[in-house]
Amino acid sequence: MYNAGSMSAGEFISHEEIMDAIDWVEQNKHNENLIRQLLQKASENKGLNHREAALLLEAGDKDEIFRLARRIKEAFYGNRIVLFAPLYLSNYCVNGCLYCPYHSQNKTMARKKLLQEEIRREAITLQDMGHKRLAIESGEDPVNNPIEYIVESMETIYGIKHKNGAIRRMNVNIAATTEDDYKLLKDTGIGTYILFQETYNRERYKELHPSGPKSDYEWHTEAMDRAMQSGIDDVGLGVLFGLERYLYEFIAILMHAEHLEAAHGVGPHTISVPRIRAAEGINPGSFRNGIDDETFARIAACLRISVPYTGIIVSTRESEESRKKVLELGVSQISGGSRTSVGGYEKEEKENTKQFKVNDNRTLDEVVNWLIKDKFIPSFCTACYREGRTGDRFMSLCKSGQIQNCCLPNALMTLQEYLIDYAKDGTRSAGEELIKGEIGNIPNEKTRSIVIEHLEEIKQGRRDFRV
Ligand code: SF4
Ligand code: SF4
Repeated sequence: MYNAGSMSAGEFISHEEIMDAIDWVEQNKHNENLIRQLLQKASENKGLNHREAALLLEAGDKDEIFRLARRIKEAFYGNRIVLFAPLYLSNYCVNGCLYCPYHSQNKTMARKKLLQEEIRREAITLQDMGHKRLAIESGEDPVNNPIEYIVESMETIYGIKHKNGAIRRMNVNIAATTEDDYKLLKDTGIGTYILFQETYNRERYKELHPSGPKSDYEWHTEAMDRAMQSGIDDVGLGVLFGLERYLYEFIAILMHAEHLEAAHGVGPHTISVPRIRAAEGINPGSFRNGIDDETFARIAACLRISVPYTGIIVSTRESEESRKKVLELGVSQISGGSRTSVGGYEKEEKENTKQFKVNDNRTLDEVVNWLIKDKFIPSFCTACYREGRTGDRFMSLCKSGQIQNCCLPNALMTLQEYLIDYAKDGTRSAGEELIKGEIGNIPNEKTRSIVIEHLEEIKQGRRDFRV
């Protein structure tokens, strides 16, 4: 029985409801009136429920959906794109996930766990690229990577004092765990807790997770509830497209978002949309549900119009071309200059420890330059989390539109820091021009003059202003 507010995975991700919704979409895909009404509803920025969104995904006019997604993106996020990088701490893992080369049966994968000194050097290398926001990643292994190791690693990174650099926000992507562990992460200053569901289809989930704690569907699917009950306000959902029919996953991830809203009063902070990629021993062609670029773009656009307040993340699994397309349609965060191996930032890896092959191999500076040339504002902002604007506080600022008074000023100030401390000459001059042109777009006059002052102070050597 489907119940969005239930705390039981079998009820808030109801297979019956997903199958009924798929039937409903089939029955209504030529219902022009209904489709028109849904586009009208979405255009009021109020979002759509999982059935409505699925109907647009399958039957809405592509040009109209893309236009609407662009408009909503513009209204909520303007032309800002937040940048981050993943940092792999350890690829030891006791799980048996068939789509990931870190699975425990993979005897040819070199196993590596970074020592605290190595983590320090990795984080400094990332700081020297210009990053301020990391997603730390680790396999699940209670012996090699216990929660104490993750906490110690976060403390190491937050404690680094190096030139003008600083990692100001750390999102954490580790396996489903206990409320006590989530409390520890909260106390250590976690940004967003990220956990991909991989697939919401219980049968498929079982096939793909033959062993390890992750094979427990309930434990994994109810993890966000434990995290939120432990005080973590911001959680990030995701599925791995290619494992199951995309429509099934699209409906289910929106149901999960509806569940978080119903049970905790706050939807997901972010949704990630990775597609399966080649990796050691992993051939994406052997997964029968891969999606093409066109479907991928439709999914990004339909997510944007369905959950306007949720950030959408695309990683370097995607090519430059594919990232360019979805940036316009609703993606608000991207990774840049990423390495998916353990210890891969400081040293080019000699042994293979990669989780997947990166598709966009450009440096962070090349990505920043590309964004600027395409009229996006690269942002290294981490202000909300540091100002305590998380969870329902963040969402209510988003919904009232007030967050707009923060995002653009913070984007410009953090970009200015990047340009002075890390950018190559061409990027610096293009960025300076962009900032000059964008200052006038700060709506509030008082904020505008504060930002102009701070930009000058940043040029004089001061750092870390935020509004
Ligand atoms: S997906 Fe995560 S849990 Fe599964 S094998 Fe890879 S690292 Fe381990
Ligand atoms: S001000 Fe808040 S919402 Fe806007 S970019 Fe910064 S952290 Fe994100």
